[in-house]
Amino acid sequence: MTYNISKDFALEMDVSDPLKSYQERFYIPKQKNGEKHIYLCGNSLGLQSKNTSDFIEQELKDWQNLGVEGHFHAKNPWLPYHEFLSASYSRIVGAKISEVVAMNTLSVNLHLMLVSFYRPDKNRFKIVIEDDAFPSDIYAVESHIKHHNLDPEKVLVRLKPRDGESAIRTDDIEEVINNQGEEIALLMLGGVNYYTGQVFDFKSITKFCHTKGIKVGFDLAHAIGNIELLLHEWQVDFAVWCSYKYLNSGPGSIGGVFIHSKHHNSKLHRFAGWWGHNKEDRFKMPDKFDPIRSAEGWQLSNPPILSLAAIRASLSIFDEVGMEALIEKSKKMTSYLVFLLDNISSKRISIITPNDRGCQISIRVSGGDKMLFDKITKRGVIADWREPDVIRIAPVPLYNSYLDVFNFYKILEEIL
Ligand SMILES: *Cc1c(COP(=O)(O)O)cnc(C)c1O
Repeated sequence: MTYNISKDFALEMDVSDPLKSYQERFYIPKQKNGEKHIYLCGNSLGLQSKNTSDFIEQELKDWQNLGVEGHFHAKNPWLPYHEFLSASYSRIVGAKISEVVAMNTLSVNLHLMLVSFYRPDKNRFKIVIEDDAFPSDIYAVESHIKHHNLDPEKVLVRLKPRDGESAIRTDDIEEVINNQGEEIALLMLGGVNYYTGQVFDFKSITKFCHTKGIKVGFDLAHAIGNIELLLHEWQVDFAVWCSYKYLNSGPGSIGGVFIHSKHHNSKLHRFAGWWGHNKEDRFKMPDKFDPIRSAEGWQLSNPPILSLAAIRASLSIFDEVGMEALIEKSKKMTSYLVFLLDNISSKRISIITPNDRGCQISIRVSGGDKMLFDKITKRGVIADWREPDVIRIAPVPLYNSYLDVFNFYKILEEIL
């Protein structure tokens, strides 16, 4: 695809965009002057789709009219409500329906997965993670290491890019695995790194780890709804995600997990709760925990239906569009953004996102000069700043236009 620097080009791209009509189906935040913001922050909090309130109101109404009876007799009964999300989730992450479940929030799910998939012994006890992983992931992993009376300094292996590079090479990950593989219990990566936007090679990394007997998990916070995922086929052991970034399900909404079917009948340790107990006799309240033989067996509590309703609203749009069409537009729009940024000759900015990426582009600002970010914010752009020196920009295929990308570029260029 050849791009062009004129505004007309952006307008033409919008006219021929097969997903154009979806912009109308989201609320785009407005500036004080009544104009729409240039919202490029779907990587942090996705926008609200206009069908969200209908889905939530349905549950409020059933609660008003039915009280506790809603568990069985609501239009969408609450007892199995989480199951209504599983087919859509399975399509988005490339899994069997039995391998996914909506539950908890991401950090909680990561803890639950570490209980099952990090069982250090005197031979295998190390965890491999990105050096610049999201802080919550580091906290979670370190706390498990300490929980097993081990020392994070000795046990946590942190992957760094080479000097002068910002992405971590697959070769370098493989070298760590080759050198220390016998001692490594688990490799846990952000499928898309939250800071650089780098997409890891899930398939090769997982395969390589498995040849050494290492379990593999991914944090999909920035991957789900953004890139192609084939978790089942890639043999990933587990994955966790939140639904409020690219999945547009509202602040703090419930996340989800993927647990590969090969683990469903295993004797893995887990923390247990009544919602993970087999459905046939859950309400007979037996003492002995008998887990559901699917990802659902890791559930603890009955989930918040109002949050799940918001997720269902959003997933209905993903079902309609399909990841393939989203990714196709995403690639075009992100390449267009990179093309425009490459046209800015200023030495004050550089792109640190590698070509293996989703829709996020991370722009490093030399000297960590946050003034630049403050200035684009004043001009109506909503993006985010990540310390020490990065502006993250995410044109989201569902509700961003090529004109948004062009307008952002124009503002940035004028300021620079
Ligand atoms: C957003 C994000 C989280 C958020 O965790 P919550 O438990 O949902 O608050 C965790 N990890 C990564 C990599 C993220 O990007």
